[in-house]
Amino acid sequence: MTETTKWVFAFDEGDGKNKKLLGGKGANLCEMTQIGLNVPPGFVITTDACLAYLDQPDHHLPTGVMDQVRDQMAALERKTGKGFGNPDNPLLVSVRSGSAMSMPGMMDTILNLGLNEETLQGEIKATGDDRFGYDSYRRFIQLFGKVALGVPDEAFDHEFNIVKEAAHAKQDVDLSAADLKEMSERFLRVVEEQTGKPFPSDPMVQLEIAVKAVFNSWMGRRAVDYRKQFHITPEMANGTAVNICTMVFGNRGNDSATGVGFTRNPGTGENKLYGEYLINAQGEDVVAGIRTPKPLDRLTVEMPKMAEELAELRAKLESHYREVQDFEFTIERGVLYCLQTRNGKMNAHGMVRTSVEMEQEGLISKEQALQRIDPVSLEQMLFPRLDPSSKVEAVAQGLPASPGAAAGVAVFDADRAHQLGHDLGQKVILVREETKPEDIHGFFASEGILTARGGKTSHAAVVARGMGKPCVAGAEGISVDVSRREAIVGATSFKEGDTITIDGSSGRVYLGEIPTVEPDFTPELSTLLQWADEMARLKVMANADTPEDARNARKYGAVGIGLARTERMFNATDRLPLVIEMIVAETPEQRDAALEALLPLQRQDFRELFEVMAPNPVTIRLLDPPIHEFLPDEHQLEQDLADLRALAGATRGMTALAGSMGLLHTPEKARDEFDAVRRVMDPMMVEEAIAKKEAMLRKVRALHETNPMLGHRGVRLGISFPDIYKMQVRAILEAAAECAQAGIDIQPQIKVPQVCTVQELKRVKAYVDEAHAEVQAKHGQPVKFKFGTMVEVVRACMRAESLAEEAEFFSFGTNDLTQAVFSFSREDAENKFLPLYNQSDVLHDNPFEVLDEKGVGKLMQLAVDWGRAARKDLHVGICGEHGGHPASIAFCDQAGLDYVSCSGPRVPVARLAAAQAALKHRPQ
Ligand code: ADP
Ligand code: MG
Ligand code: MG
Repeated sequence: MTETTKWVFAFDEGDGKNKKLLGGKGANLCEMTQIGLNVPPGFVITTDACLAYLDQPDHHLPTGVMDQVRDQMAALERKTGKGFGNPDNPLLVSVRSGSAMSMPGMMDTILNLGLNEETLQGEIKATGDDRFGYDSYRRFIQLFGKVALGVPDEAFDHEFNIVKEAAHAKQDVDLSAADLKEMSERFLRVVEEQTGKPFPSDPMVQLEIAVKAVFNSWMGRRAVDYRKQFHITPEMANGTAVNICTMVFGNRGNDSATGVGFTRNPGTGENKLYGEYLINAQGEDVVAGIRTPKPLDRLTVEMPKMAEELAELRAKLESHYREVQDFEFTIERGVLYCLQTRNGKMNAHGMVRTSVEMEQEGLISKEQALQRIDPVSLEQMLFPRLDPSSKVEAVAQGLPASPGAAAGVAVFDADRAHQLGHDLGQKVILVREETKPEDIHGFFASEGILTARGGKTSHAAVVARGMGKPCVAGAEGISVDVSRREAIVGATSFKEGDTITIDGSSGRVYLGEIPTVEPDFTPELSTLLQWADEMARLKVMANADTPEDARNARKYGAVGIGLARTERMFNATDRLPLVIEMIVAETPEQRDAALEALLPLQRQDFRELFEVMAPNPVTIRLLDPPIHEFLPDEHQLEQDLADLRALAGATRGMTALAGSMGLLHTPEKARDEFDAVRRVMDPMMVEEAIAKKEAMLRKVRALHETNPMLGHRGVRLGISFPDIYKMQVRAILEAAAECAQAGIDIQPQIKVPQVCTVQELKRVKAYVDEAHAEVQAKHGQPVKFKFGTMVEVVRACMRAESLAEEAEFFSFGTNDLTQAVFSFSREDAENKFLPLYNQSDVLHDNPFEVLDEKGVGKLMQLAVDWGRAARKDLHVGICGEHGGHPASIAFCDQAGLDYVSCSGPRVPVARLAAAQAALKHRPQ
């Protein structure tokens, strides 16, 4: 950079597209000026000047900057006919910061710069309004003192209150010119006391100090922290610009005003000007809450001509920017000025509605309509949320494990939840230390789940997400006392029957009922997602285990089920005893009987899934978890047995008592009493119960594994206990045959978990072929299905080519695959070291949330390519949480996958993300 560097650009010459150089505010001020909007004249000092200034060891402005500023001030004087520092007709300006990205922590704006004792008098003479003059003056001294000289606000507030009290003024507007004059004198003294120097009176000196203060604020603590926290890199925003802008006054009387507007309603998206204004006010008064501003509707009544001009401004802004604008305006004595504009921030409802409507109005294309929305924000529209106007404080904070808000009475075990929720129809929240598979009936009966322990992948979290129910997990501030039916939270507690509210989107827990707002799948959202489906290459399927889940998934637009977990069906209350029976069976006959009883239940499950999803594919995964997960806990069993054995002694005592009745009563009465006593307790029944529990305990001990997740599960189980898989396969094919007979067009898919060698697939395929032949013969018509494998083991990726000879489809199980690639156990990683890894950037993201493209993704890519080398039409998808994450979806698109599958409520997010992924690489 040399002496000839251009550091300063007038609003009518700066490049409105160059936000990096001019900052967002400056670039838009230039652009607005150049498209003919009424912006007060001004200029921008570039971010390059800021960086060059900060580079100087002694912090002086680079050569040329102040010269160019003086030239621009001279130009401003010509344009406005006023003079900077001229007592007869003073030019006043504002000094405003602004970097490429809007960023709190940057310097506050200084208004009315250029005032001193002489120019003040000129201003009063020119306006004939001494109250206005002193009001402007005291504002300037305070802002300049605070922002440029670092004088604390309290020092000014103190003086302010003295004057206000002495004047018996309730509001600022009640202060007289004399009061404001006194205030400005006091403020000047404050500055001198605090800085040890008189307040600078030379306007050009004021300007230079202010410019440096803006530049310095770029490296201020607040700004630096903010950039760090939100990962704002120098590529995104580097340095701040300074905007010098001719002052216009909204405080020149009742024909003047200041306000802020949105070209459309940011809460609902409604196509109607939205905003607030204040008559006779300046700058930040509207947002500062000193007086209550009025809605812009009122302007039509109070200043009809200005309202018309504002409507025109709104139309011009939107037709130019083709995006909802958030703008600032000031009216000075009947003239409307625009002081700032930027893209409006809106909630999801607003974004979706404006996307669809702006496309229909021809402002934007469908592609733009889809690209301007953050997919994840759609979740806001799909779950009940806490009424945003509620101000209640949370009592505990856990992990946001499954989004949505719910209120209900607290219950501390699943049976009670079932009783109160299912049988009595109350709204309940299930509160547990942590949940287990056998709590599942409590989940169904509850509005939401709260646990004191466990992470985002704890049983509670996974199951709740699958059901689309809110869940807060790992709220460690809560200790649950099941026996006393009470939970302690810090100094307070809640008991069974007390109402609580949980917010699974934020992880917060509240006492009492907080009103919630119901979600709505608006017509605009449907339209938008339809467009998304037209643009996307990836198909979006859902993970759904029950017909209920499947129906929801369809509603969200899933075009199939990518993963139906059969273990969820095993856990239903009417199945679990049969499943246990099957596991603890001592003889093949006993096992067969249990399997026989399970078969029709599973067949019915599958049939319903097929019917709900017809004609879309339903991918059923054969049993995956280790079977001991279905058995009760070992310690619980030991405890039960100890209790039962104690009871056995007691029942023997009762029998002895019954036998002693003859000694106590007449024979007739003795017989009655004997029966009564015997009826209370049957010693045989206790012995039977003991025998059953002992068998179960033996089984639990026999099935014990050191490392169950790496142990006897998935296809390993399918090969060593073939009966279970055979039963499942038969149930699937019979259900398919029944549907075929009923004329329902379906696409069943059988998926084998945990596969690492093609031999495993071949074994299972043999069961399938056998059952297939039998079922076809029995039903006398062809039954179609597809056979494929989960790819969730590293070896499966390496052997993809060989697996693809048997498998017609691959489904990446990236949860397990990520664990395998990192050799991290997810629970341990997330609870112990991952947060530290993320914080200190050893790992940028949590690989269980954001697909690790470089490691796991690379392996997936190899598997896709090798798999397709063996089978050209190999269908490939992903199931697991990454399937609902936009960045991971973009990766899957690039890697050539055919579909993603995610939990039902995540489907709309995935549909939009899939469209964005496709658009990213499409030539525009
Ligand atoms: P922020 O980035 O905090 O919005 P701004 O620089 O936009 O800061 O200004 C703060 C307030 O001062 C806004 O209400 C703005 O409209 C007002 N303001 C800024 N410059 C002028 C000016 N030249 N004349 C009148 N009001 C101004
Ligand atoms: Mg502003
Ligand atoms: Mg798995």
